[in-house]
Amino acid sequence: MKQTITLPLIAFVLFSCIPQEAPMIPVVSTGEITNITTTTASCSGNVTADGGAEVTARGVCWSISENPTVSGSKTTNGTDTGTFAADLTNLTANTTYYVRTYATNSIGTAYGEQRSFKTAEEEVAPPTDLGDGFFMHSAGRVIATHYKDRSMNDLLAHIYSKFRDEIDFVFFVYKDNSYAFGGGYSAMMNDVEGLGRGLYNEGTIYNYNPNGEHLYGVIRFGGFQEFNPEIMKHELCHRWANYMRSTYQLISNVEYEIHAHWGFSDVNGMLGGFDRTTVRANIAGNPMWYHAPNINGCELWEAQGATMGIEDKIYAPLELYLMGLIPAEDVPDVTFYSGLSVIPNASYPLADGYFAAEAVETWSIGDIISRFGARNPAYPNTQNEFRILTVILTEEPRAIQDDEWELVNNMLLKMSYAGPDDDDSSLNFWEATLGKATLIVDELDQILKQ
Ligand SMILES: [Zn+2]
Repeated sequence: MKQTITLPLIAFVLFSCIPQEAPMIPVVSTGEITNITTTTASCSGNVTADGGAEVTARGVCWSISENPTVSGSKTTNGTDTGTFAADLTNLTANTTYYVRTYATNSIGTAYGEQRSFKTAEEEVAPPTDLGDGFFMHSAGRVIATHYKDRSMNDLLAHIYSKFRDEIDFVFFVYKDNSYAFGGGYSAMMNDVEGLGRGLYNEGTIYNYNPNGEHLYGVIRFGGFQEFNPEIMKHELCHRWANYMRSTYQLISNVEYEIHAHWGFSDVNGMLGGFDRTTVRANIAGNPMWYHAPNINGCELWEAQGATMGIEDKIYAPLELYLMGLIPAEDVPDVTFYSGLSVIPNASYPLADGYFAAEAVETWSIGDIISRFGARNPAYPNTQNEFRILTVILTEEPRAIQDDEWELVNNMLLKMSYAGPDDDDSSLNFWEATLGKATLIVDELDQILKQ
């Protein structure tokens, strides 16, 4: 009995499928593009037929080239037939995009007709007029003014009439290359013991900030080209070093006593010196002949006007100690060479890093502390965030172009980025201090006097 019932039922099921068409891809149409901004837009769609199989995904896809597909940017806006609304995001301002709706079932993906639209143009707010010929860029990281008939103290007095006394370093970026030097550091104040220099405050002496006490120094960048991480890291280091001792270097085969830099030493940091692991003594059996193969990149830049070769360098341990960023016990011994001369043998040229030294002096961090005193304040109770005010200086008032504002703004973003960036050839300040210190460059409106 069972069989007689089952067989006709199976036959009915099979039979009922035969007249149906095989499933196809869905049918979808693209609606209007609306709500266009600089970075977003909306688009509607309508799946008018499922093609005989369930619609498992639908939405819009877009691209800057024609016929966008679901392998690129897309939204997902539910399943099934009917209308839907999609929001396009993360678009670039002032850019033409191509948009299609899509709907997917088990057979494949169908696309609606293509539409195109252009995102809105970015409104760049004009610079804010701060008075006295000072203007602030809309992003709030850089100001500009003119230097004609104004001394540095005049400029600083104007700055402190507008900004609160919370600035650690002022960066002056000379648009017209009128400051004929790559970079320079002008010390204004020292409140740290143990650096090999006294405590003082030029700001009150020169009266540009009579009640102030904060500004450490002014760094001048000769032009937009010189406004780069390399010069910035070097000049910032002059806040703390080298005030411990004279050093020596060879210029045109003559020994010179130099100040502020590390000279012929193995400090190997932002202020010069060579890598101790590469130094060999006893060249050709002479105990006073040395070889330091990276000497050119590290020290002779001053004489040669060449690059300093520190783009990818981190601060030396001695520098990080003086900056207050590592404890004294982390500083290895440093060796200073003097009584310098060129080796009188053409096989050992200075250009290849060979030199003779009559005196070699090695200082431990204990020696340094007994000479100059311990650093006070001492790590870790030290400052590790430094507020920067960046000023573009032009000869004439209001002489900054939009792209020049952007150039300086973008370089500040790179210099101050508090993390590893994707450029290993030029380390930012955070990277060069091993993540121990950061520069604060933005929200200048927050330190404006009200
Ligand atoms: Zn220097």
